[in-house]
Formats: sequence, C-alpha cells, structure tokens
Amino acid sequence: YIYSPQEHAQWPPGAASRWWLHHSLKALQAQVEKLGGKLVIRQGDSQNVLLELIRHSRAQAVFSNYLYEPALAARDQEISKVLHNLGVDFHRYHGSVLMAPETLQTGSGTPFKVFTPYWKKHQQRYSPQTPLNAPRHLKHSHNRLASVSIDRLPLLPNIHWYQGLQQHWRPGEQQAFKTLQRFAQSALVGYKERRDIPCEPYTSSLSPYLHFGEISPRQIYWQIQQQQGTAKQTQYASAETFIKELIWREFAYYVLHHFPHTTDQPLDRRFRNFPYLKSNHKLLRAWQTGTTGYPLVDAGMRQLWHCGWMHNRVRMIVASFLTKNGLMSWKQGAQWFWDTLVDADLASNSFNWQWCAGCGADAAPYFRIFNPVTQSQKFDPHGDYIKTWLPELRGLPDKYIHEPWKAPDAVQTHSKVIIGKHYPSPVIDLQPSRQRALDSYRQFVKSPTNK
Ligand code: FAD
Repeated sequence: YIYSPQEHAQWPPGAASRWWLHHSLKALQAQVEKLGGKLVIRQGDSQNVLLELIRHSRAQAVFSNYLYEPALAARDQEISKVLHNLGVDFHRYHGSVLMAPETLQTGSGTPFKVFTPYWKKHQQRYSPQTPLNAPRHLKHSHNRLASVSIDRLPLLPNIHWYQGLQQHWRPGEQQAFKTLQRFAQSALVGYKERRDIPCEPYTSSLSPYLHFGEISPRQIYWQIQQQQGTAKQTQYASAETFIKELIWREFAYYVLHHFPHTTDQPLDRRFRNFPYLKSNHKLLRAWQTGTTGYPLVDAGMRQLWHCGWMHNRVRMIVASFLTKNGLMSWKQGAQWFWDTLVDADLASNSFNWQWCAGCGADAAPYFRIFNPVTQSQKFDPHGDYIKTWLPELRGLPDKYIHEPWKAPDAVQTHSKVIIGKHYPSPVIDLQPSRQRALDSYRQFVKSPTNK
C-alpha cells in the first residue's frame, strides 16, 4: 500500500476516511499475514515507490484495479506508460464497478446524462459473473522488502473525536461480508418500503466498505441475485430496488469518468455563474454543528459528526437546506461531507451534491426545494430519529418535535426545552429563504447568457 495523499489533487482523504483507512490497513495486514504473505506499506510518490519495489522484488507484472478519480486515473495512465517501457506487464481491471464506464453510450454515441435510460441499458448489457474466492495462501512472501508501520502513517486524528466511529464501525473485509449477510437475511425484505425512514435499520450500511474496496459491487450483486432467485414477491421487489441503488453508484462513477470536471465544477455549466452567496459563516457553522434550529437537519448533521455516516434521505434534506434555503454553493457542503463521512467518495459525493443542488446529471430541478419540517413529519412522524440525535428535545411533546419554536412558553417550561437556551431558534426563515432561492433561480435562467 502506498500512502500518497498529495496525489488526490484537491480532494486528499478527509479525517473520517483516514480513520477508516488506518483500521482497514490493519485488517488487511492481518489477513495477508494469516495467508503467509506480507503487506508492504510505503509512503511517497506512487510511481517512484512502485519502481523501487519492482526493482527489489524483480516483479514481472503488476495487477491493479482502475481508479476513476481524475487525478488518480491520470497518474495510473502515466505509470502504465512507464511500466510498458520497462517491459513490466500492467494488468488492470474494472473491479470497483460492475461495468467499465466506456461500455455504455446513448444511441447517438454520447455519454448518458440521464439515469433511467442508462439504467435500462445497464440491465440489458450486464451479465453477472460468479465472484472468485480469495486465495487460500500467498506463495510469494516479500519479507525482505522494507515496510513502514501503519501507526507511523498520519491517519488517526490528534483530537479524540472518533469515539462514535469506533462504536459504529469495524472496517475490513470480514465485517463487510458480515454486513452483507445481515442485510440480505434480515433487512432486505423491508428495503423497498422502509429504506426512506431514517430511524430504521433497513439500508445496508455497505457504502464505506464499497468505497474502500473491502467488498465489490459484483460480490454484492451476486449475493442479492442468489437471494432473489428464491424470494417471494415482496422480497423480489426489494432486491430490485436495492440493485437499482447500486446502479446509481455505478452512474456516479460513469458521470465522473466522462465528465471529470464535475469534481469541482457543476455538470450543468450554466451553474458556474449561479449567484450563490459568497459566504454566510453563521449559517454554515450552524449547519455543520447541527444547530440550525430545524430538528431533522440538526439530527442528520449530528449523526454525521458522531457516526461518520448519515441516512440518504436526510443527506438530501440537509443538502437542499444548505444550497437552496441557505443559497450556498454545493461545494461548501461537499467539502464538509468529504471530511466527515466514512464513505466519502469523490464520484458519489460530487454527483449527489450536484443532484441536490439542481446542477448535475439527472438533477432534481432547482425549484424543487425540500421542506425540512414536512419531510420530518412524513419520514420521522414520532420524532424517533430526532430524539436519538438531539437528546435535548426528548422532553418535547410529539406535536412540537418538528417545529420546536412553535411550542408555547408553558410547554417549553414544562418540557425543559427553552428555545434559544436549550435548543436554538431557527437560523433562517423557511418561507422567505425558499422564495429568495426561487427568485434567484428565475432571474438566473431569464438571463440570455444562462439559457
Ligand atoms: P443503501 O441504501 O443500502 O444502498 C446500497 C448502496 O448503493 C450504497 O452503499 C451505495 O454504494 C449505493 N447508493 C445508494 N444510494 C446512492 C446514491 N444516491 N448515489 C450513489 N450511490 C448510492 N454515497 C457514498 O457512498 N459516498 C458519498 O460521499 C456520498 N455522498 C452523498 C452526498 C449527498 C448530498 C447525498 C444526497 C448522497 C450521498 N451518497 C454518498 C449516497 C447515499 O446517501 C449513500 O450511498 C447511502 O446513504 C449509503 O448508505 P447505505 O450503504 O446504507 O445505502
């Protein structure tokens, strides 16, 4: 493993990702050693380190997966040329996606920008292959190659913020497969109906394992399909919905591959000039720390800080709140997610932020603005999710859990939830901020340069 964060250009791994990486490397090291091998760990320029290792080990071939982050794809392309000139074979596989991104295109030969036709074509073209078993033992041991200790890599943060991550996650391949088994056996059946309810455990939690390559989409697809073969109607529908979500991930990688500028710029180029507010430090800070005064938004942001993960529906709501009610650029939100998510993934993060902000592939139209109060009433009717992450609101009657500022003084006093003291009043008004977003958008699209 070569640790080279500087090669990720603007997006070196964030704090939560580094925490995961530390434990993931430990798990991999233990597994490799159990099979009789040695995991060599180095730090530095990937190409130089690789060439040095090839010289010392006299390797004749290098095997690797394609990466799709633009900076890493360019680096690996360069390495491929160098290895070719040295006469070392370089074998590369599309192991972290189901299908190579070049495979699919529209009838007119251009890349898809809309999900549904992409998904249909994917379904027609993809033929699942049985995943291979892991090797039983490793023949080539590299005991003579020098390696740095994982503890020497600058991965764990200095501040002890990661207790919640430790409670919620166990990185590594073994846990990835346990997570898949648990999901397939007990949660999959309710996935279609209940995956949008943030306090219920009906989603798979596989995203960080997928991001770090501890499990592959092919292995997941295969397992779910086996299950589907013997499933009843309801389970079948759930399995289909789940596989569609895996294809959303695939589509995010596809978009990144074909439109590499989307790491930093919107796919819809008109939005480069969108009049986002330059900065609103107060709002941004309230959003990051889960103190906006809107319980569902705050619960999501506190879940993120504590677990390094947030439920998908709540991710959409907090993203809409920041980019539309807050009129802040999607990149500000994407950067915070990047640092705090254990599943932070350049393809999925940029794609989804742009989707929510209305400037990406197949995006939600700009004028569709989630209302955090009605979303809360619909998906967390009794406030179970809110009360989990905002313990200070536990005393509040259900009637006010979605809009605590509406609780009369007597209720606030009785439930020991004084707005402005125990919980903040709303940092921004929903209706005027919604109107401001709509007006900005209307003005923006009216301008001839933005048509
Ligand atoms: P499940 O519902 O069990 O889904 C199974 C798998 O399908 C996931 O593990 C994931 O790999 C994939 N998937 C599901 N939904 C999506 C989606 N909308 N887009 C792409 N893939 C999807 N996902 C990341 O992995 N990394 C990110 O950095 C990331 N950033 C996001 C930012 C925003 C603003 C939003 C709205 C979504 C983001 N997502 C991201 C997508 C999604 O929220 C997570 O993949 C999902 O919540 C992970 O939980 P799960 O594994 O239980 O999902």
